[in-house]
Amino acid sequence: MTVLVRSGVGPLCAVARAAIPSIWRGKYFSSGNEPAENNPVTPMLRHLMYKIKSTGPITVAEYMKEVLTNPAKGYYVYRDMLGKQGDFITSPEISQIFGELLGIWFISEWMATGKSTAFQLVELGPGRGTLVGDILRVFTQLGSVLKNCDISVHLVEVSQKLSEIQALTLTEEKVPLERNAGSPVYMKGVTKSGIPISWYRHLHDVPKGYSFYLAHEFFDVLPVHKFQRTPQGWREVFIDIDPQVSDKLRFVLAPSATPAEAFIQHDETRDHVEVCPDAGVTIEELSQRIALTGGAALVADYGHDGTKTDTFRGFCGHKLHDVLIAPGTADLTADVDFSYLRRMAQGKVASLGPIKQHTFLKNMGIDVRLKVLLDKSNEPSVRQQLLQGYDMLMNPKKMGERFNFFALLPHERLEGGRHQRNARQSKPFASLVAGFSELAWQ
Ligand code: SAH
Repeated sequence: MTVLVRSGVGPLCAVARAAIPSIWRGKYFSSGNEPAENNPVTPMLRHLMYKIKSTGPITVAEYMKEVLTNPAKGYYVYRDMLGKQGDFITSPEISQIFGELLGIWFISEWMATGKSTAFQLVELGPGRGTLVGDILRVFTQLGSVLKNCDISVHLVEVSQKLSEIQALTLTEEKVPLERNAGSPVYMKGVTKSGIPISWYRHLHDVPKGYSFYLAHEFFDVLPVHKFQRTPQGWREVFIDIDPQVSDKLRFVLAPSATPAEAFIQHDETRDHVEVCPDAGVTIEELSQRIALTGGAALVADYGHDGTKTDTFRGFCGHKLHDVLIAPGTADLTADVDFSYLRRMAQGKVASLGPIKQHTFLKNMGIDVRLKVLLDKSNEPSVRQQLLQGYDMLMNPKKMGERFNFFALLPHERLEGGRHQRNARQSKPFASLVAGFSELAWQ
């Protein structure tokens, strides 16, 4: 498939995107039972076996955390896993339209909440920086709307490698970055469009203030605890060394209750559940910030509303990968439980969604945007790429139904709608927020 040439930064141009491989991370995969035909002893496997031998079996959450973000050997820390040469592909890497519509969503929220004189755009897990780049292009194009607004960009990223790629994507090479590995703000610079940009390892280090937060395919990489219902009650799944096969890991059940069980709902009806305390902590922090200083958060990911069971899976080279084989060489992920995110936001901010990606993008005007780009392009390969990207994002059998949008907003944002509503209207408040209703974007 052809790779597009970056043909300009104008609002009507098609921007370069990689060819689209056939797999994305939202695909379902049951883990742990695959044969160990190919089980190289990776440095991470050695590290984990040493750890288990010294202190005993580890939780799935600890396993995920070590494998993905261990500062010395973690999968995310030193590699670029995105795109055709990597392990998986994400929506912003597939089509520029995705980021453009998200940029419009943030501007729409900024306008709806009184056009503050400044805001921070904060992205959690920015990958290659492609999404924030597309959003900033929209901000530049709508410069006349945003001209009196001071914008700054704040990226929360644990990966040294990806932060370097983000800097290359978003800043001018000739303008040196300020670096301080020991500081919570480990890198600082200015974007190509002249906006201050900073990098952090943790959300809590990002300055508090009126902010728009974005998390695309971020929550699914946060560590999950897994539980199995047994006649004795819930038992947590641990990872241990297989006593029968050398250098192999296996799943085992804890013999007694473990503390993370507290995260399971009392009325839970499933027999197997995954819980993600780190997702809860992040949503609480986002909710507190939004309640305190205003703004909004947009979360997009694959997931469910408290219905799925075993979704822990691995990806390597655009193929599904056994999660226990060659740890450190493959991405690990679990579906996001949006019902849990909603519970963690409750009482602090209002939440909208989850709604399906195809509905959100349709409401945001993806068809109009596609038509504009197609009308503007005479190059058959560019047109083909745009159409294929659209199909991948929107087709219910592809990313259209697997991916969801979820938003956090201050209560006043939706209560404002209540006053504006005619008492006889029965439309939900959500109709006032772009993307979550057809009406909002007409
Ligand atoms: N949002 C991007 C990338 C998704 S991959 C896209 O859609 O293309 C997940 C991203 O989260 C990567 O940038 C990874 O380095 C980052 N990440 C993973 N764990 C993290 C953590 N605990 N804190 C901050 N960033 C993390």
